[in-house]
Amino acid sequence: MTHKEKAVKLLNEKYHCTQALFGAFANDLGLDLKTAFKISTCFGGGMRCGNTCGCITAGLLVLGMTFGFYNSSDTEQEAYGNKKTEEFIGRFSERMNGKVNCRDILGKDISIPDEMAEIRKNGLILKKCPAALEVSIEILEEMTAEYITYKAETSIAAEDLPENDELQTMVKRMGRSNRFSRNVSALLDKADKVAFIQFDIRRFKIINDLYGENFGNEVLDHVVRTLRDYCNDKQYYLNRRSDVFVVVTEIPDADYPMRFIRELDARLCQYKNVTLQLTYGVYIAEDKTMELRRMEDRATMARRTAKSGRSSSNIVFYKEQFKDSLYNIKFIEENLQKAIDEQQLSMYLQPKYSISKNEIIGAEALVRWIHPERGMIYPNQFIPIIEENGSIVQVDHYIWRKACMFIRKCIDSGIKPCPISVNVSRVHLRGDESSQILSDMVRSSGIPGKLLELEITETADDLQISRQTSLLKDSGFTLLMDDFGSGYSSLNVLLESPFDVIKLDKRFIENMMTSDKGRNILEHVLQMASNLDITVLAEGVETKEQIELLRSIGCDQVQGYYYAKPMPEDEFFELLKK
Ligand code: C2E
Ligand code: MG
Ligand code: MG
Repeated sequence: MTHKEKAVKLLNEKYHCTQALFGAFANDLGLDLKTAFKISTCFGGGMRCGNTCGCITAGLLVLGMTFGFYNSSDTEQEAYGNKKTEEFIGRFSERMNGKVNCRDILGKDISIPDEMAEIRKNGLILKKCPAALEVSIEILEEMTAEYITYKAETSIAAEDLPENDELQTMVKRMGRSNRFSRNVSALLDKADKVAFIQFDIRRFKIINDLYGENFGNEVLDHVVRTLRDYCNDKQYYLNRRSDVFVVVTEIPDADYPMRFIRELDARLCQYKNVTLQLTYGVYIAEDKTMELRRMEDRATMARRTAKSGRSSSNIVFYKEQFKDSLYNIKFIEENLQKAIDEQQLSMYLQPKYSISKNEIIGAEALVRWIHPERGMIYPNQFIPIIEENGSIVQVDHYIWRKACMFIRKCIDSGIKPCPISVNVSRVHLRGDESSQILSDMVRSSGIPGKLLELEITETADDLQISRQTSLLKDSGFTLLMDDFGSGYSSLNVLLESPFDVIKLDKRFIENMMTSDKGRNILEHVLQMASNLDITVLAEGVETKEQIELLRSIGCDQVQGYYYAKPMPEDEFFELLKK
């Protein structure tokens, strides 16, 4: 188990973040878990008044135990320790967008009983703390490993050097890491502009789960081999950890990083019969005085933005405005409640059509935030943020209620109502309440349950999710698997969860349409769905050619700009009337 997995497991077992983090490193430090818990408990105290995040206090504890200063005459050790403490806090703060206090990270103060009650009620610890734990662990792994080489290089007493296999591997890795740092520093001295490109493999964990760890290792070897062949002797790469890689290259012209990445991506993206989706973050180093670590951290921030769904591309360049993005997150977190209270959120509806009948067969409800000063804010700008802090639950309830009211309005006006599908964020599926809430809404609006349909984004096979989808199905709802084809495990999920409809993802359709092989796959998906008695709907259809192709392979249901964009509910009501 990795440090991260250990820590998150402990957090799930209701240990405090200091205990979870320090506990994850207990083995490395030669401590048993119980002792680690006892020690770290004392260090969690800072949070009691909303102050320093426990992931910092526990992180410092790990560093202290690793290269702790115990000899008052060893000034070199003391200086090293002080420098590293500052480095750890600085990097943590930068990666957490300046949030270092427990209160800021949780959004509530655990020392205030009422706020603590809310933290418990909304499960904020499990929502917010894993991100801080993760950042802390990534930095700690790099810093402790670095220290091992530092020790090896300054030849500290042999008995202090690691003996077990895991640490030997770490030393080897650090040998590579040090060489990498030296090469990169030299390159920065010579070159005018240098790009730090960090990338990782999307859902690598799922590849491991689905195909086994050996296959996962083969995939990583494939990446290393490709990098070795592709990079010239002035371009340096390193497997930073697990599936995270970094490449540093000089930039002869402004377009070079993009060309470099595109070509690299083309070489990497297929291993055996598995397509790898890679996410790239790029930082262009101009200020050479900045610490190497900070430069790479910026590439990390860019990569995470690419991963977060807040960007439409899988290649993101670091911009100073990422500091604005912090401002943006704050804006959204602080203004969402007001938006709900002041009814700035509204429901748009996008019609779904039958190609053969050329008529509306339903609609999808999509939220829009119409801010009095900022204008229209699209879901991709705020949903990922409010999914993290849990506010999505309120937003979804609001839209579900609106959808029920719309169906009611159609029935009352004597218009033949069509089914409306609403999006159900995965956050709802962590608990048991959603099917009851939805059933209550349907009952209290007095509409037939089959008119409210639920869109759930396809995902890895996850027992909890398949249990919840079964519950929703048992309550009589029609289930649509959203964004089918945007991940790896669609087929498995189909077998395990009772979906009635799959919605083919826009990008999936686009990719499949570019080759005969792709078209063949599309046809097989339709065939398989038909055998399983599942309807297929194509999303994001924009062109006549797409419609023709879909028609020719037997996909009749579509949603997309070709027919209509999402529109205010009144407009859709008028359309239905016609
Ligand atoms: P989704 O559920 O896959 O919704 C489809 C998205 O594709 C919508 O974007 C829609 O406007 C867009 N789209 C439809 N046809 C076309 C087309 O032909 N071309 C292009 N380029 N785009 C098309 P939207 O409304 O921005 O929503 C984005 C995502 O945000 C949704 O993806 C859904 O995952 C999420 N979302 C939207 N509203 C809600 C909500 O009320 N609750 C939850 N939980 N998620 C929501
Ligand atoms: Mg949807
Ligand atoms: Mg979709």
